[in-house]
Amino acid sequence: MARRKKKFPCGHQGYGQVCHKCQQKESDRVRRKRQRQAWEESFRYDPIDLKHLPKNVVIKTRRIISQLRQDSNYRRFKGKRLRHNRSIISIPINRDYRLICRDEGAQVLPETVISHQDYNVCKPGSAK
Ligand SMILES: [Zn+2]
Repeated sequence: MARRKKKFPCGHQGYGQVCHKCQQKESDRVRRKRQRQAWEESFRYDPIDLKHLPKNVVIKTRRIISQLRQDSNYRRFKGKRLRHNRSIISIPINRDYRLICRDEGAQVLPETVISHQDYNVCKPGSAK
């Protein structure tokens, strides 16, 4: 007895009781939703707010922060002290972003991530 394809209410054709195309689509949707939730929850563990940043910047920043915890030598990330405030260290994340840290003597603490644009403009009193 040959199985015959049937047409489901959704418009797809296939075998069985439910449409496998739609089932697949639904499970993909659920999986993506879980991934998105896990990504959103991951920000709770960051010492500084990274939510507004592109994903690749977030991942790279987290890596630098965790490596700085183990060894505060910021120079291996091409970090530099600011000329006008020697206790502030600027570490390039990529071409567009900098991780700003404060030198606390024994450790280098992350403070914020700013875009290259903010970094160069930085006019006092101007809107961010
Ligand atoms: Zn379907």
